[in-house]
Amino acid sequence: MPSAISVFSSPVIAPIQPLALKQLSKTGVNLFVKREDLIHPFVSGNKWRKLKYNIMEAEATGKNTLLTFGGAYSNHLLATACAAAMCGFKSKGIVRGEEKSSNHMLGLCQTFGMELIYASREAYQDKESLAAEHGNNETYMLGEGGTNLLAVEGCVEIVTEVEEFFDHVVVACGTGGTLSGLAKGFAENFPKTKVHGVAVLKGGAFLVDTVNSLAPGLENWKIHLDDHGGGYGKTTPMLLDTIKQTATETGILFDQVYTGKMLRACLRMIRENEIQKGERVLLIHTGGLLGYFSLV
Ligand SMILES: *Cc1c(COP(=O)(O)O)cnc(C)c1O
Repeated sequence: MPSAISVFSSPVIAPIQPLALKQLSKTGVNLFVKREDLIHPFVSGNKWRKLKYNIMEAEATGKNTLLTFGGAYSNHLLATACAAAMCGFKSKGIVRGEEKSSNHMLGLCQTFGMELIYASREAYQDKESLAAEHGNNETYMLGEGGTNLLAVEGCVEIVTEVEEFFDHVVVACGTGGTLSGLAKGFAENFPKTKVHGVAVLKGGAFLVDTVNSLAPGLENWKIHLDDHGGGYGKTTPMLLDTIKQTATETGILFDQVYTGKMLRACLRMIRENEIQKGERVLLIHTGGLLGYFSLV
């Protein structure tokens, strides 16, 4: 039998590499990227970190099914589907949307054995009822995006793989779970590092409360609320151009929903001198690259 403990205790490979962008050569800023995207093709980036202790907990408490929620392009749904299969769990995904949508992400979820349940936008609001209807006492529930204290503990471990000092760390924020873990990890290991969260959705002010409750009492982080480029999943020609230019110059692909917005926010901070000459900056590449296929 596969087990969550053995799957998630094997070491991950997420190296820190320089990101040598031409436009930065004259700024004197040293940019690096932590390649969480290389951890796994489907349990990508921060989703590996966030699921680790949750699935171990599910196993320890004798559950056999993971049930979670997401939109039709959710990286979290796909990561849960694949991780469940790896660890010997069944999985159910409740998908937001009036009608049965199908795309490459949901198709992959089904390939990994996830049972998809479609819920209208209205029904989707009431996650407790949906969980009661589709779960039982052998079901482990994970909220949309998978953020909780166990997810934060997994994200703290990102920092255990950082050996050198960075002045700034930048990460994309959806629910704020990953930012909470990074804020905690850096506060413990590198208290002078400033951790920047970039909200990829409009109206991200709630993220401040999330971090304050999941990683209380810290002052080493902040959230940038105006780098969402029009809202969740919205793209601009400038964003797509930055992604293309970066891929062409460095061979590293960023996605349009999360990490591309983080990269653009970082370039803005450099332009506006919030990040200064001589400073070292670490971008967290949280993965999610399969979402890029919705563009091509
Ligand atoms: C899910 C996801 C995020 C958001 O992480 P949160 O912990 O919800 O803030 C960021 N980047 C990528 C690529 C993701 O898939």
